[in-house]
This record gives sequence, C-alpha cells and structure tokens, in this order.
Amino acid sequence: MTANTPDIVANLASIRQRIAIAAKTAGRQPDDVRLIAVTKYMPRAYVETAMAAGHHCFGENTLQGAMNKQPLLDAPCNEWHFIGHLQTNKARKVPAHFNWLHTLDSLKLAGKLSESALLADTTLNVLLQVNIASDPDKYGLDTQSVHAFADDLLAAKLAGIRLCGLMTIGRRAADPGETRASFAALRELGDSCAARFGVDHFRELSMGMSNDFELAVAEGATMVRVGSAIFGPRPASNDQTLK
Ligand SMILES: *Cc1c(COP(=O)(O)O)cnc(C)c1O
Repeated sequence: MTANTPDIVANLASIRQRIAIAAKTAGRQPDDVRLIAVTKYMPRAYVETAMAAGHHCFGENTLQGAMNKQPLLDAPCNEWHFIGHLQTNKARKVPAHFNWLHTLDSLKLAGKLSESALLADTTLNVLLQVNIASDPDKYGLDTQSVHAFADDLLAAKLAGIRLCGLMTIGRRAADPGETRASFAALRELGDSCAARFGVDHFRELSMGMSNDFELAVAEGATMVRVGSAIFGPRPASNDQTLK
C-alpha cells in the first residue's frame, strides 16, 4: 500500500458505524440503510479490496466506467447500482449488468429499459430521480411532476422494471439545515407516492453522499451513495458529471 492508497477497509467500517449511529439516533435500524460504495473513476483493485472485506454493494455513474470493471460487474455476489444520468440510446446494457437504476426521468427511457430487461430475462429495480431543490444544473423530475410521471409509468405496465422509490442529490448548502430539509422533502414525497400508488415495494429513498449521508439517514434514507469517504478524493474535473 502506498501512502496515497486509501484504507478502504477501515473507511468502510467507519462509514458503517456512522450510519448505525445516525440510524439509532433517529430510532431506525442500521440494517434498514443500504450502503452503496460508489466506485466511479476508481481502479478495479479498490472494488476487490472492498469485496474481500465483505462489501458487495456498489455504484457507478457511467456505463463505460462500469464496463471497465467487468467481471466484477457481473459477479453474482455483487449488487450494482447505476446512479448516473442515462441517455436512452445507452439504456440497452443497463438491465443486463445492474440490479438497480436510480435515475429514471423519462418514459422513453423506461420503455427502453423494459425492452432490454425482457431481452436479458431480468427485472431492473428503478428509482425516480427528483430534482428536489429545483437546481437548474441537476437532472431529475421536478417535485410537482413526480405523481403524474409515476401515474403514467404504472399505467404503462412495463414488464421488466419495478418502481421502488425515489432518489435525489441533496441540496448543497452552507447550512446543513437546508440540506436536511431537501432530504425531508424527498421523504414526504416518497410517503405521498406510497399512499397514492399502494405499491408494496415503493419504499426506497436513495439520498445522502459522503458529505451529508448522516443527515439523509436521519430523514429516512434507505440507501446512501458514498464514494470519496471510502475510496478517497476523485480528480476535481470528474465531478462535473455529478448532476
Ligand atoms: C459520485 C456520486 C456519489 C458519491 O459522491 P461522494 O461525494 O464521493 O460520496 C453519489 N451519488 C451520485 C449520483 C454520484 O454521482
């Protein structure tokens, strides 16, 4: 290990512990929060280190970055989450290689994912990405359009995809209270969707990253997406893709 290599095993343990504390403080069970280790721009060896330590849940935000990690991507012991924006013309490969997609934001994309999932003989779990703070630089559905979008999606009865909840990138703010409020808003939206649709499996809230996952857990996150706090910093230019 060189001086610059992050201590991935220790970092994973520490993040897990912080999640457990945040969950207990909020009266929740630590096991109700899934830790997605975000491996984007990180070498394959880092994924292998995490796997050797018993971690099997990973996230990537581009297809290319993910495909660079085959066969770790296709190892049945691993659960992979696609967390980046996805263009419809790239949807074909996602259901074959990923268990979850966090960034559904168009019916056209949903149709493509459904077709591809059927071809791959699999079911893809999907979350709707919500632009909770109406940030013009971010992808996702506006809060006000989520109900109508989900109505249309469910009415289309697309085979091969299962609508399981909502995802957001929390508001970046100097005041943690503002970030937390954006997570609370996603939880409320999730609750209203669950009540409206009566779909049993509509219960996931993907929210919280390295800098704010404890706030997200306090507000009900069932999945947190943590990259740099586990694997170390990425080159700054690569974070342009974070929308
Ligand atoms: C990169 C990324 C993350 C992880 O970000 P960190 O701040 O490194 O934890 C989480 N979610 C999405 C959508 C990302 O693109």
